Amino acid sequence: MHVAIVGSGPSGLYTADAIARLFPDAEIDIFDRLPTPYGLVRGGIAPDHQSTKAVVRAFERTLAREGTRFWGNVEIGRDLTYDELKAAYDLLIFSVGAEKDRALGIPGENFPEVYGAAAFVGWYNGHPLHHDLEPKLAGTALAVIGNGNVALDVVRVLAKTQAELGDSDICEHAARRIGAAQLTDLYLIGRRGPVEASFTPIELAELGELERCEIVVDPQAVAIDVGPEVPEKEVKVRQRNIEILRSFAARNGSAKAMRIHVLFNAAPVAILGDGSVTGLLLERTRVVDGRAELTGERFQLPVESVVAAIGYHTPALPGVPFDEKSGRFKNDDGLIEPGVYAAGWCKHGPRGVVGTNRTDAGILVKRIAEDLAAKPPAGGKPGAGAVTALLHERGVRVVDFAAWKRIDAAEIARATPPKPREKFVTSEALLAAAASESES
Ligand code: NAP
Repeated sequence: MHVAIVGSGPSGLYTADAIARLFPDAEIDIFDRLPTPYGLVRGGIAPDHQSTKAVVRAFERTLAREGTRFWGNVEIGRDLTYDELKAAYDLLIFSVGAEKDRALGIPGENFPEVYGAAAFVGWYNGHPLHHDLEPKLAGTALAVIGNGNVALDVVRVLAKTQAELGDSDICEHAARRIGAAQLTDLYLIGRRGPVEASFTPIELAELGELERCEIVVDPQAVAIDVGPEVPEKEVKVRQRNIEILRSFAARNGSAKAMRIHVLFNAAPVAILGDGSVTGLLLERTRVVDGRAELTGERFQLPVESVVAAIGYHTPALPGVPFDEKSGRFKNDDGLIEPGVYAAGWCKHGPRGVVGTNRTDAGILVKRIAEDLAAKPPAGGKPGAGAVTALLHERGVRVVDFAAWKRIDAAEIARATPPKPREKFVTSEALLAAAASESES
């Protein structure tokens, strides 16, 4: 069986692993638009969360399996079409994630100092599409909108000292800019209350351990308990979040150089400015039946930059059925059309942590196996041979697993310890590193 997986992030690689276990003879080709594998593990997970990135060791084994091939620097929709993949493979799985920022939909959103979290995180993580974002980080105050783990990542990375980031793999250009910024006040803004925040406790607690940054929480805002409306399986996490927030609120305040102000029940109304950002207009809310209801009471924050960490959606891919409303591929429990499936965030939207993809991949592949048992593939598809010819014709420089390992080694070699790697941040530099050994 010839299998193509599009996207080499956690969902794609866990799916590849599950397929290899169930179908040991399967030939699995894993495509990625970037010359590098691992998706959000490389470009999304915070650079100071190195232990989470250790999952790449398992992913390496998946990519190194005999019968599995990595096809980096191959973009579906540009270098190969959807129809060409369907013609070449018995089974096609999209696992392209959700890389586009959702829009805030408020006035002022287009000011140059307003950044979506996908772009901002991509900037400090050296994503080739975002490495040159050069966020202004002007003035002393910045707002991060959203109460999820991405918002926590952004404020934490901005609040850390250069020493605290020393053993991270933050890109040099970003560390320099963050180090030079004069920020003193970061605002973390939730449109609903602390009970509704989607933080996970370990990540929330980290904010309390920052060297140069105090965390400011209004005790009244967290004098609230988890109510019966919270689903049973989430009660513990939400309770733990409230406890952590209360412990922050009980702090006496200290003379640190920076502060993270945690604001709840504050919905963004407009980003203020005159060509560039001068403030953020918010409206107080109360939570009614789980929804943020506006109260009419407005206030302003004097911020000069805004990061919107309010969720992501999947970009459409030419030919692949797409649901505009939900921002993901049209699918019925993973099935896009016979022989074509969606996995991970492009299937069900952005949720869960890296490991969630493992469970989801197991469920999806079980379903695929049932579908294949009910209607076995007709066979006769050419697999990699067909795409090799097309890519050669089109002059695409494919980065295979060995070439990725050359990039990997070069990035590790050029970092100054304790930094684990210094990433190449442009496609040109990545391709040069991929080619380095073979040319020497
Ligand atoms: P998320 O958890 O869904 O959080 C999005 C936040 O944006 C929510 O607080 C949401 O508020 C808010 N929001 C949405 N639209 C808004 C608007 N128009 N105005 C104001 N606020 C708005 O998503 P995420 O933070 O992007 O994370 C995505 C996934 O990656 C999550 O599963 C997360 O746990 C995971 N992740 C994990 C880690 C980690 O484990 N360390 C790190 C990063 C990301 P409402 O709730 O009111 O809609």
